[in-house]
Amino acid sequence: METAVSTPDLDAYDDPQRYSKLNYLTGLVLIWFHVQAVFAFFSFSWTNVLTFAVLYWVSVGLGISMGYHRLHTHRGFKTTRWFEYFLALCGTLTLEGGPIFWVATHRLHHQYSDQPKDPHTPRVSGFWSHVGWILFGDSNHADTARMGRYAPDLAKDPFYRWLNSYHWVPLTVLGFILLAIGGWDLVNWGIFLRVVVGLHATWLINSATHIWGSRRFATKDDSKNTWWAAIVTFGESWHNNHHAHPVSARHGLVWWELDLTWISLSVLRAVGLVWDVKVAKVTQVPNEEAA
Ligand SMILES: [Zn+2]
Ligand SMILES: [Zn+2]
Repeated sequence: METAVSTPDLDAYDDPQRYSKLNYLTGLVLIWFHVQAVFAFFSFSWTNVLTFAVLYWVSVGLGISMGYHRLHTHRGFKTTRWFEYFLALCGTLTLEGGPIFWVATHRLHHQYSDQPKDPHTPRVSGFWSHVGWILFGDSNHADTARMGRYAPDLAKDPFYRWLNSYHWVPLTVLGFILLAIGGWDLVNWGIFLRVVVGLHATWLINSATHIWGSRRFATKDDSKNTWWAAIVTFGESWHNNHHAHPVSARHGLVWWELDLTWISLSVLRAVGLVWDVKVAKVTQVPNEEAA
């Protein structure tokens, strides 16, 4: 069902102050990663491709989709404390910041979806929603005390506080391990190219899935179900479903809505590592608590 959203007053989003402060360090790191990612294409090997694929699944699939998003932000299922920590550690391998920063930012996104206070709405601009919001403004990614106010459940745990402040450490350690095993070629594939592809895939959820796609649920925001981004995001792009039912650990709600994280969760539930999994139904009223 296609549903229309009322035309927003775009002047409210046109705040020139947004671009007044450039985060030089973040910008330089992102440029460095993009440039070095290109070098990966000059060193093709199946070992490199396999390393890329496995680490992409571990970091974006387990770390971001299953961990930071469906578990740490929305508590769509329950698991052991050690598996929670493992998923958070995987999340840091994406260079998307630590768990407290990520969860706090994402909860703000749900609280103010496509309103002026949304950290990354495309109503400002497509560029802003994709990467502008990271490049400009207050750099909060390591400000654990400040972001902890928006994620108090995580901020009371010393491990999450440490991981949030030193979120770049696990990725750096992994980089040196790959360097020792396979030299710079393996680092370019397993770290630089893999991180860049993962960043853009995640950023598509903030940009593309609030711009292009279809709407099953009449949510108050611009969220869409964007089929072509489903594989690279492990099912995160059924984003209109998700805004309608944020707590549901299942985002693809019908059989053809490919949701790789949901498949992984089903396996983990079968072996007993996760339980109390919340699942929404297509017939359910938006924002109703998932059963
Ligand atoms: Zn959204
Ligand atoms: Zn969410």
